[in-house]
Amino acid sequence: MLSSPSILPTTHSKWSARQCELVESIANEFILSTSKLEALSKEFIHQMHAGLGQDKSKDLAMIPTFITGRPDGHERGCYLALDLGGTNLRVCLITLKGNHELETQQKPFKVPEHLQEAHVSELMDFIAISIKKFIANKHINAKIVEHRTGSDTLELGFTFSFPVAQTAIDAGTLLRWTKGFNCPGAVGNDVVQLLQDALNRKEVNVHVAALVNDTVGTLLAHSYQNPNTFIGAIFGTGTNASYVESAQSIKTMKTDAGEMIINIEWGNFDKDKAFLPVTIHDNKLDRESINPGIHVFEKMISGMYLGEITRNVLLHLIDHRVLFEGTSSDILNQHWAFETKYMSDIEKDSSSTLIPIAQVLEQKLGIYLNTQVDREIVKFVCQLVGKRAARLSAMATAAVIRQGLAHGALHSHGYPLKLDLDEKDDADKGTGSSEAIRVGIDGSVFEHYPHFKERMQECLAELLGSHANELVQLGIAKDGSGVGAALAALIAAKNTKSA
Ligand code: ADP
Ligand code: MG
Repeated sequence: MLSSPSILPTTHSKWSARQCELVESIANEFILSTSKLEALSKEFIHQMHAGLGQDKSKDLAMIPTFITGRPDGHERGCYLALDLGGTNLRVCLITLKGNHELETQQKPFKVPEHLQEAHVSELMDFIAISIKKFIANKHINAKIVEHRTGSDTLELGFTFSFPVAQTAIDAGTLLRWTKGFNCPGAVGNDVVQLLQDALNRKEVNVHVAALVNDTVGTLLAHSYQNPNTFIGAIFGTGTNASYVESAQSIKTMKTDAGEMIINIEWGNFDKDKAFLPVTIHDNKLDRESINPGIHVFEKMISGMYLGEITRNVLLHLIDHRVLFEGTSSDILNQHWAFETKYMSDIEKDSSSTLIPIAQVLEQKLGIYLNTQVDREIVKFVCQLVGKRAARLSAMATAAVIRQGLAHGALHSHGYPLKLDLDEKDDADKGTGSSEAIRVGIDGSVFEHYPHFKERMQECLAELLGSHANELVQLGIAKDGSGVGAALAALIAAKNTKSA
């Protein structure tokens, strides 16, 4: 049977029957219906509950962060922030001015590739030296002196975006490396201590006051400007989120506070692939990655992987001789050579001739022979992979919001969202808050991938009801983790003083 025209792009009338057949079978695997996403969302909530409980085998780590307050925009002071999470190390000086205003000075340092697999003490020495260089800068130093608050030691918030079992606001044990890092000597150890030791070794007068995940930093930073922030999420090299949970739902620890920020570590959702609609192209990527079987969900969503999934699909079509006349290129044959950014460039092209796509194919991938139909297929494949990523992101976001509404910190607000997954009509009425639930988001994929936000919003409306677009506001918290880490250092320093 030939294609149903609704799945393939309108231009498919010029495609051969074989092209239609193969591309359609791929589309069928990648397109996720509302009902499929609802089922996943239900499972996601189920796994959130398992993670909040005492059960040892959990997919979602649901890590308590020991951060029990959110900033309201009145905080003041000068703090250092450090962000290690992916491609770059960033050192920042954040001057909080109160009144939701702040100033940021920052410098990126490229982590040399060999350090991603060197002993962790070498990595930490590199970080300590980078901080030393940053604060020695005349301009930065003047700022620090100007805003000094008594002690000579600068307080630092450390954004460390790998799975950590946090044991205090300033201590946490690395559970595993992800995103291409694999430094021996770190797993099982306290990363704050590892950094503080390096700072001491290199005689840098800085105290590591708080350890935060980048999602937590993003949540705190967004909260400084938008006090109703409930979720902080990242769609960058990797993906993850944190949210505000009511203390009574957290069974893994006791706290006197009413609520605490929980780091979900959602990249590991459904690690056994029991529910996720993984394709052979996802499995190929996973098998060839440095951490097979781990963070399968992240591998369907984030910037490190989307290009490689697309590459796998394109090679599949080439091998079936329906793309580029069955010929690949040396570059396209290389693992990880198809960057996610190329997908953005390809999806951006809305011209009729698709010449900009030809330029990507030629200049980036060395594919000189490509027809209009080839370019249409390449664009459609990018849309399938990109749209699936955005819809899975929305699925997880919807699940976290539902959890907040049904059991957690949003419970008392009575938002008029569809709550019962089995309830098909939109009959539920809200009674309470009309304030939007804010989601602070950072990461190049959310920021730069065409339509990523709109695709997420469309899917949120499918899952939460048509009110979702007013009541759930997705906002960019660009480089929020730096500001958030500074805010965490401030919260930690305050806690120490009042203790
Ligand atoms: P990090 O997560 O390391 O802090 P980013 O948020 O910048 O950094 O995310 C980097 C990831 O985003 C990389 O995997 C890269 O492939 C991807 N990326 C960079 N630019 C774009 C773009 N224009 N469109 C889509 N993805 C991009
Ligand atoms: Mg980042």
